[in-house]
Amino acid sequence: MPATRRLIRVTGTVQGVGFRPFVYRHATALELTGSVRNDSAGVFIDVEGEPARISELARLLVEDPPPLASVGSVTFEDAEPLGRPGTFRIVASDDAGSTRTVPVSVDTATCADCLAEVDDPADRRYRYPFTNCTNCGPRYTIVLRVPYDRPSTTMADFVMCDACRREYDDPQDRRFHAQPNACAECGPRLTWRAPDGAARADGDEALRIAVELLRSGGVVAVKGIGGYHLAVDATDVAAVRELRRRKARDDKPFAVMVRDLADARQRCDLDERAVAALVDPRRPIVLAPRRAGAAVAEGVAPGLPDLGLFFPYSPLHHLLLAGVDRPLVMTSANSSDEPIAHDDDDAVARLGPIVDGLLTHDRRIHIRCDDSVARAAGGHLQLLRRSRGYAPEPLPLPFPTAAPVLAVGGELKSTVSVVRGDEVVTSHHIGDLEHLATWQSFRQAVEHLPALYGVTPEIVAHDLHPEYLSTKFAFDLDLPSVAVQHHHAHVASCMVEHGRREPVVALAFDGLGYGPDGTLWGGEVLVADYAGYERAAHLRPVQMPGGAAAIREPWRMALVWARAAGRSDPDQLGLAPAGLDATAVHAVADLVDRGGGRPTTSVGRLFDAVAVLLGCRKHVTYEAQAAIELEALARAVDRDDARSFAEDVPFADGVLDPAPLVDRIVEERARGIPAAVLAAAFHESIGLATARVAHDLARARDIDAVVLTGGVFQNVRLSEIVVRELDRSGLTVLTHERVPPNDGGLSIGQAAIAAFGAGR
Ligand SMILES: [Zn+2]
Ligand SMILES: [Zn+2]
Ligand SMILES: [Zn+2]
Repeated sequence: MPATRRLIRVTGTVQGVGFRPFVYRHATALELTGSVRNDSAGVFIDVEGEPARISELARLLVEDPPPLASVGSVTFEDAEPLGRPGTFRIVASDDAGSTRTVPVSVDTATCADCLAEVDDPADRRYRYPFTNCTNCGPRYTIVLRVPYDRPSTTMADFVMCDACRREYDDPQDRRFHAQPNACAECGPRLTWRAPDGAARADGDEALRIAVELLRSGGVVAVKGIGGYHLAVDATDVAAVRELRRRKARDDKPFAVMVRDLADARQRCDLDERAVAALVDPRRPIVLAPRRAGAAVAEGVAPGLPDLGLFFPYSPLHHLLLAGVDRPLVMTSANSSDEPIAHDDDDAVARLGPIVDGLLTHDRRIHIRCDDSVARAAGGHLQLLRRSRGYAPEPLPLPFPTAAPVLAVGGELKSTVSVVRGDEVVTSHHIGDLEHLATWQSFRQAVEHLPALYGVTPEIVAHDLHPEYLSTKFAFDLDLPSVAVQHHHAHVASCMVEHGRREPVVALAFDGLGYGPDGTLWGGEVLVADYAGYERAAHLRPVQMPGGAAAIREPWRMALVWARAAGRSDPDQLGLAPAGLDATAVHAVADLVDRGGGRPTTSVGRLFDAVAVLLGCRKHVTYEAQAAIELEALARAVDRDDARSFAEDVPFADGVLDPAPLVDRIVEERARGIPAAVLAAAFHESIGLATARVAHDLARARDIDAVVLTGGVFQNVRLSEIVVRELDRSGLTVLTHERVPPNDGGLSIGQAAIAAFGAGR
């Protein structure tokens, strides 16, 4: 049979993931000739041989690519056969900076092959904590610049030994062009440091000291892939209490790293999706219901029914867990929503005073990257924090774009995004910008991300809120700017992940976002697409007395909603006896009566209010803590048994008024109906009432899809009620999966809206 020749182009995340050796191995096995190389668009293959064998190669590219590759497209072109004799070759990249536009891949958990080596006393990588290969290891967190090769990473500090170099140069080897390739001979080393930073031991001895300390209740800082963790034995009540005391801040839950599935199942009830997420090489923290009697200290997640579990994702984690032989609290080493510590000097300065020692190493972390957080909700997995393992993987935009855009996100849970070609690339989770260290991290991300992707932004997109630091930053950039309304951005972010182009009806419920009328929105029913939005309906506005104080002290919102429901005597609401000063309560009541506080339509604040009225906490140490307790309270009641007072949420003239519902809840509570029953009824009522509004609007406008977005839809129970109702009526419901419903998704929506506008 005469030979044919085909030129094959593969796009997507196909560099730095072992794609060329993969092609080489198969082409050689199939006795094809030609070459493969990286270029500016991805991977280019020029192959010649029997047509059936070329088809087989093509099939493998599409159906069975290397594990870390994410193939965007494979296109073919016929060419004149050259009749070249010889073999198949890997050609060096045509550099000249042209690989600049190729995506950087994500940090990936240690693969089974590498783990087997780490566990094998006969292997030269036995117990080596930095073992990796082309199928696993750090990527985004070590990249300084592109093109992605060793000198452009923090591995440039290490010169490969002969054995490592041979692996690196051999196309048949699993470590061919694995940029972080290393061994104990030539690679990064562990160091044990005293709290004052003094080096005390290194290598396996450093690890042994850390294990000993953890086993005896100590607090250890551990340098990982994206930053430092603070570690303690998760089953040791005193150690966990001590960690909380030393961090001296709030009740935020700690994540727990477990060795394997058996261990995970002892702590939490895991469904199929949760298991799939735990074993996924992206290794998110997975929230799942804690099992009754599970051996985990109560202080790990105070007052919460869920635990955040995750699996080890570096060889160091595996060795540490094997040594301690207990689950470990592994919480980001930071205070409040400051960025995770990642720089060694900074770690000693910030963490030294609160730890018994630091298990550190000499591979620099260039981009700090917190652990991602996911939970199973409504039949799929939903990311609540999209960071390590997911950033900076691009998402396709469902329309062609005309200009490169930088989107600077919001204020809390900050991320930034760039539009490049027809994709949007989003940074790691940066945090809350009000902290100086987070602000510096934001500045770094805004520089680094466009540079990494070879994007020179021509437009900057930002939130409408004039006081957000990100907005002020955007104004200082000297670029044409696009202000995007907060909830419109939430809606667009959800449309992007579903590839939706046509208009949608959207329920955008969250804490707060700036409205064009200067009030604080947060309970919005929008009709929207990328070109614009209409505020078709919203929650009844009430005052928010004391601004940010109303977020920290949800009893203020309880007072406001009770008064909206006609219950004007604060002493009858049961607020004062629970540790509140009656004078303070009356002062806020007076403020509300005088019309003080900005108007808000926030559903998040309504949940806060009802939580307090049902006896949940009156002060919170992190946003939505009371609302999370309310959802937990409702879990005691099966959804099928939940009562509904949806008729007490009247809708007229575009305003949904929950005041009668609040009134009824207070009244039934006073009659002695259990708080759990009323918490369930509240969820049911708000879910049914808002689903009805969305449904009627969709039918009236002839729209077939409803988006659920905003931080309130992290509430699984509420989401499931709304989804069930809308599903029943035949509407398509679009919920968040890969993009967080909270403000971590804002920059994606902003980027899409600005890019769409620029293309028209
Ligand atoms: Zn590996
Ligand atoms: Zn080596
Ligand atoms: Zn928001």
